[in-house]
Amino acid sequence: MKIKNIYKKKKPVISFEIFPPNERYPIENIFETIDKLIELKPDFISVTYGAGGTTRGRTVEIASRIKNTHNTEVLAHLTCVGAKKIEIENILEELKKENIENVLALRGDFPKENESVEGDFRYASKLIQKIKAESDLCVGAAFYPEGHQETNDLLDLFYLREKVKEGTDFLISQIFFDNDYFYSFKEKCEKLGIDIPLVAGIIPVTNANQIKRITELCGSTIPLKFQKILNRYENNPEALKEAGIAYAVEQIIDLLSSGVSGIHIYTMNKVDVTKEIMRRIEKVKEYLEEVS
Ligand code: FAD
Repeated sequence: MKIKNIYKKKKPVISFEIFPPNERYPIENIFETIDKLIELKPDFISVTYGAGGTTRGRTVEIASRIKNTHNTEVLAHLTCVGAKKIEIENILEELKKENIENVLALRGDFPKENESVEGDFRYASKLIQKIKAESDLCVGAAFYPEGHQETNDLLDLFYLREKVKEGTDFLISQIFFDNDYFYSFKEKCEKLGIDIPLVAGIIPVTNANQIKRITELCGSTIPLKFQKILNRYENNPEALKEAGIAYAVEQIIDLLSSGVSGIHIYTMNKVDVTKEIMRRIEKVKEYLEEVS
């Protein structure tokens, strides 16, 4: 099913993101994780592409397994940085062959050592244009409630509108730890006439190293309330895990209560954490599904 139709039919939509195992490890390593995540009944699962540069070949294979073996809807991420037209065409062909109907179209990050890497698509909007011209895929794209690191807020909104004009069907956010960024960005989008679903990407932070990497990578602001948790429990992994889950659940309940279309949980392939979050939001989710 096309994910845009899930957002039309249901509120809230709860989805998970997973990443393929590094190519040094067998692909089967992820299968048990997928089996267990599917037991939690997400509306769809997304599979990242090329994170760290080594797992590209695995995205379609894993997405295909989710869709065709588990009969669960899937969103395959695809980045275009450094890619030639023919590579993108080949991947679109593979997606079609595997019966995959949804793609998250991204630019990706330039490799640190080469900011001007050659490719046929400079921005995600060009990739979206290509996908829409050559396939019947449902297309999602990324947005940044705190602005993208390379651009200022206003320009970023302008370019986001370009992605929407090219036919993006829904948008998933970068992680954030203060819901007010999401709400104020949503308001700006509404003023600009962007009326496709804006989905909140939430990450449960369960270890201290993870947060350093995340903030370096995407620059999300750490609110004082969250910083206190990190400082207080950084030397006690179990306490930090409990507090990190509680923080993510609080964010999610607030977003759900405010009528968000969907929550996308960056699971980091952690089944126990995801399971606990789903348990704690179960009644709220059930009630909202009933009344929507
Ligand atoms: P774009 O929309 O192209 O924007 C990139 C920058 O260029 C922005 O600053 C934008 O304002 C600017 N810009 C856009 N158009 C123009 C224009 N015409 N002229 C000038 N400037 C312009 N990365 C991966 O490698 N693999 C993944 O699987 C992955 N999944 C992700 C999932 C989500 C939900 C999110 C939020 C991010 C993900 N990323 C992933 C990271 C993403 O690739 C990076 O954040 C990247 O830096 C930007 O990608 P984009 O698609 O938003 O780019």
